[in-house]
Formats: sequence, C-alpha cells, structure tokens
Amino acid sequence: MPMPTLTQEQHAIVEAVGDFTREHLAPSAIDWDRRKHFPVDVLAKAADLGLGGIYVAEKHGGSALSRRDGTLIFETLATGCPSIAGYISIHNMVAWMIGHYGDDGQRARWLPGLCSMRELASYCLTEPGAGSDAAAIATRAVRDGDAYILDGVKQFVSGAGASQVYVVMARTGAAGARGISAFVLERDDSGLSFGANEEKMGWNAQPTRQVILDGVRVPADRLLGREGDGFRIAMNGLNGGRLGIAACSLGGARAALEASTSYLESRRAFGAPLLHAQGLQFQLADMATELEAARALLWRAATALDEGDPKAVELCAMAKRFVTDTGFAVANRALQLHGGYGYLTEYGIEKIVRDLRVHQILEGTNEIMRVIVARGLTGAA
Ligand SMILES: Cc1cc2nc3c(=O)[nH]c(=O)nc-3n(C[C@H](O)[C@H](O)[C@H](O)COP(=O)(O)OP(=O)(O)OC[C@H]3O[C@@H](n4cnc5c(N)ncnc54)[C@H](O)[C@@H]3O)c2cc1C
Repeated sequence: MPMPTLTQEQHAIVEAVGDFTREHLAPSAIDWDRRKHFPVDVLAKAADLGLGGIYVAEKHGGSALSRRDGTLIFETLATGCPSIAGYISIHNMVAWMIGHYGDDGQRARWLPGLCSMRELASYCLTEPGAGSDAAAIATRAVRDGDAYILDGVKQFVSGAGASQVYVVMARTGAAGARGISAFVLERDDSGLSFGANEEKMGWNAQPTRQVILDGVRVPADRLLGREGDGFRIAMNGLNGGRLGIAACSLGGARAALEASTSYLESRRAFGAPLLHAQGLQFQLADMATELEAARALLWRAATALDEGDPKAVELCAMAKRFVTDTGFAVANRALQLHGGYGYLTEYGIEKIVRDLRVHQILEGTNEIMRVIVARGLTGAA
C-alpha cells in the first residue's frame, strides 16, 4: 500500500504491526472464528508491541501515540482479523477514558495492567432498553455513605467475562444525559455477573455478554470524573472508538480486495484468467478507489480529533459512517468476485463480510452517525 504522507515513525509502526498481524493474527483468524475462541495470550503479545495503551501517556505504561497513528494500527491489525482488531480498539477506548478522566490514583491502579493487556477492559453503555438513545439508560448508582450501589443490566458488552476492568455508565441523577456518571468496576466486585456468550453473525473471536449489576457496592473512588460527567466521558470515548472501528473496516476490506486480485489472477474461465476481463478489473479499480477515499476521510477525521478541531465530532461520525459502509460494500463485492468459493469458510472472505457487518451497527449505528452530522449542519440540539 503506497503511503507517501506517513512519517518514518509511522512507517515503522505499520511494519511492526504488519509483522505481528501476519505472524499472530492472520494464520489463526478462521479457526478462532469457528471455535469462538478469544485469544487472550495473543492480546498480551500485542501489548508487548505497545498496543494495550496506544493513547495512554508513557509514564503510565502507554505508547502516547496519536489518533492518526491509531488508524494505521487498526487498519493493519484488521487485515489479519477484524474481530480481534475491533476488540483491541475497544480496550484502547476504555484505557484512554481512564487515562484522560481518571485521577492519579485511578491511573496508577488500572493503567499498568491495561497497557500490558494482562488485564482487559470493557465499555458498558448499552442496555436492553436503551441503545441509540443512550441518554435513556436506567442502570442506577445510588450513593450510600462513602460508597455507591449499582443496579442494572448492560447489554452487548464486548469482552465481558474475560475483561477485568469495566467502565460502566449509570444514573446518579435525574433523567437525561446530565444525570449519568461513569464508574470503574472490576470483575471480582461482589454482585457483578455475566450473561451467556451471545451467538452472533460475526465478531466470534471475542465474547459479547450482558453485564449484570445486582447491588454492586463499590467505594466512591470508583467514580470516574465527577457525578454527571458520565455521558460526556462516554461520548468522548466513542469519538476515538469510531475511528478505530472504521479503520478495522478499512483493513478488513483491503484484505478482501487483495485476496480478490490474486484470486482472479489464478482463476481461469473462458480460456483466460478472470483478471483479464475488463469488467472485473473495473470492479477492482472501483473498490480500490472507494477504499482510498474512505482512508482519506478517516485520516482527516483522526487529525481533526488530534488537533482539537471544533468539527472533530462530526468528522468522526462522517468517517465512521462512510468508512464502515464502504468497507462492508467492498468486502461483499470481494465475496461475489470469488464466486462460490467466496461463500466457503476456508477462503476467509465470508468471515470478513460477517465481521464488518457489525461495524455499521456498534459504537453508534450509521443512522445515529447521520443524526450527529445533521445536528452539526442544522445546529439542532
Ligand atoms: C457485537 C456487538 C458488540 C457490541 N459491543 C458493545 C459494547 O462493548 N458496549 C456497549 O455499550 N454496546 C455495545 N454494543 C451495542 C451497540 O452499540 C448497539 O447495538 C447500538 O448502539 C444500537 O443500539 P440498539 O441495538 O439498541 O438498536 P436501537 O437503538 O433499538 O435501534 C434500532 C434501529 O433504529 C435505528 N434508530 C434508532 N434511533 C434512530 C434515530 N433517531 N434516527 C434514525 N434511526 C434510528 C437504529 O439505527 C437501528 O437501525 C454492541 C453491539 C453488538 C451487536
């Protein structure tokens, strides 16, 4: 992939993450998907490369890289396995939230473990009765002396059960976004339990479970930021998270495009390699063009977030919507170009299509991304 605008350091990051992806992710991705295996040992190896705390300050064990660097990392990881790349993106979203909003004690307590990925993190916002309308969550945290008691159910939590650290959004005040606070819970906290691992279309190499909070009593120092800050913390986490998920779509689709080019070269029909058919070449050309356009928007949004651009939120939403839609369409087209073999598990294309489908849904659906962009245009609240 030609990347003329990358710095020397960014080229080195892509090379190191590419080596890791080829060695540790790509060879096992289909097997993990089939067995629904979450490879925590491989995650610890990723952390040895600095991928456990990509946006965390070096003094807390992180890599202190930019969002722009992050897009390169997640695109590269996803060429090997979009599901594992997606989980690493979520883990880094939570590590960033603790690094950015936590106090010194909280950073010292959780960040070293998260950066080494000896401890994994989950993000708990969605509930059975509140997804897109996240400000309507019903999980409650009630102050009781020097503690809070949390009750409620979180739905669709990635990594749940395997993670040690859970950032949970819960209501401490009145209805609406301002009544929400963020808490850091640990897997061993009494009253915390997990639902069954959901049966899913894709993202099978990582668990998705309910997180059930039944009178979880935690000391008040588990509050992240101040009371009432939780919705803002959750949304700011998602701005960066959406770039990571979009980058995962780009990487998965790129792998599918590359596989299609080689496949069409080796597959013969009507007396010649299929790659000689100009109609198919044009499809590859369109797929490559669409991915370049998606990458350009993704990099623009990442730079905006790095630079604190006032349009960063809308740009992240535009990028998440456009890149995940484009990535899915390209991967689906790659499946068609493989004919019947694209539908077979062993070729790896159908897995990419299944994995990329959920990127259009999670961390805010692509309809909600349009709501955010439209709000920026119209000035509506
Ligand atoms: C595999 C997987 C992993 C996930 N991981 C996590 C996680 O780790 N942590 C977490 O908190 N959540 C997670 N989620 C939840 C995910 O973020 C939600 O599913 C998503 O935000 C949508 O919420 P919902 O499913 O309740 O859909 P709903 O909100 O019920 O939406 C249903 C449909 O209506 C549309 N819609 C809703 N409101 C509007 C509107 N105003 N305008 C136009 N269309 C609208 C939606 O776009 C969607 O198409 C995960 C989900 C999945 C499937």
